[in-house]
Amino acid sequence: MTTQQAPDTLDMILLKEGEVVLKGLNKHVFEQRLTGNIRRRLKPYGKFTVTARQSIVYVEPQEPDCDIDGAFESMKKVFGIMTLTRAMACPKDPALIAERAKEYLYDQLSQAKTFKVESRRGDKGFPMTSVELSQYVGGELDDAFPNLTADMHHPELTVHLEVRDRAAYIHGAPVQGAGGLPVGSSGSAVSMLSGGIDSPVSTYMMAKRGMHIIPVHFFSFPYTSELAKEKVLDLAKILTGWCGRLTVEIVPFTHIQEEIRAKCPEDYFTIIMRRMMMRISNAIAVDNHCGALITGESLGQVASQTMEAMAATEQCATLPVLRPLVGMDKAEVIAIARHIGTFDTSILPYEDCCTVFTPRHPCTHLRLDKVLEAEAPLDVDTLVAEALAGREQVKLIPGRE
Ligand code: ATP
Ligand code: MG
Repeated sequence: MTTQQAPDTLDMILLKEGEVVLKGLNKHVFEQRLTGNIRRRLKPYGKFTVTARQSIVYVEPQEPDCDIDGAFESMKKVFGIMTLTRAMACPKDPALIAERAKEYLYDQLSQAKTFKVESRRGDKGFPMTSVELSQYVGGELDDAFPNLTADMHHPELTVHLEVRDRAAYIHGAPVQGAGGLPVGSSGSAVSMLSGGIDSPVSTYMMAKRGMHIIPVHFFSFPYTSELAKEKVLDLAKILTGWCGRLTVEIVPFTHIQEEIRAKCPEDYFTIIMRRMMMRISNAIAVDNHCGALITGESLGQVASQTMEAMAATEQCATLPVLRPLVGMDKAEVIAIARHIGTFDTSILPYEDCCTVFTPRHPCTHLRLDKVLEAEAPLDVDTLVAEALAGREQVKLIPGRE
């Protein structure tokens, strides 16, 4: 029996890196980004050490009152992680490790038909090699569970043992991680975020591909209420779980909409409004050294999302406009919105600035020359400058709730 203090209350989290491992020579840059993101996300849950070795990131609590449940939940949303698992801590004694494995993985061990034990030895002072430990614990488990047969090639259940500095750790099957690339590894983009179902999903999708996101929301007080703004901030708060910290840019849009209504033909309201949004978003993006803009548009969903309309709005941007939902059906978007937790907030009934000024007969077959003619009475540069000057920034940090 060991005399070592049993770290019973401390278990840890193992994270398996996703596409990061494919990055070859750049791997360490991605890995640093990933571990940095992980450390920042863990802050609300206590003191942890985070170390990456051989495509596994080890998250170990450094004090007994760490919130490991909260930490584990938050790690499920970190991009760049393929699978994750919690592991049971145990004193570094082979007999105890075997006993703990029987208890900790009892359900899985009593249901599986075939199994194997895989060990890694981080602590080179441990008296057995990893092969010896696997054989010893494997033998113990084989004796204890008559339903089990060892299978080294295609086991139904793999029991993992990790002998680390502080303790040995036991774990079974991992759960699916968020996938994708570490946020920040693909640069930054401005995401146009409305209160709808689509744009939180498009924001999530590009964050998943490693983009750091700056959400921009156009706000038309008093045509849209404070509640509509709160709703967008609630959506952004949910998105911080996936995207990390966010600074939301709230842009006053009322004056622009009033000018459009006063000076432009009604059939063109929506397209002109969207062009103004695009110009302002582009300016904010350039200001923040972003490489792209993101919208939640999907081809043909509404009159302002035809190919012609997209071309007419894109004409106002100097940066590429990314539309990750362009080929998706609404039902597919809704499935993702449910998965990421934004759907229930998106369907709250607060009006959006687009719906307040919706024309009765929006143009569906736009010609750019006609759009430019309709827009001509506006003093575009002044309106853009005024909106940019009036913007408000709201900082949101991923939290416990
Ligand atoms: P969503 O569900 O995202 O609101 P939608 O189907 O309602 O999308 P539109 O209202 O035509 O579509 O808007 C298309 C895209 O334009 C949105 O996905 C979003 O990226 C952007 N957008 C629309 N309204 C706003 C707004 N008030 N602030 C910021 N971006 C907006
Ligand atoms: Mg909308």
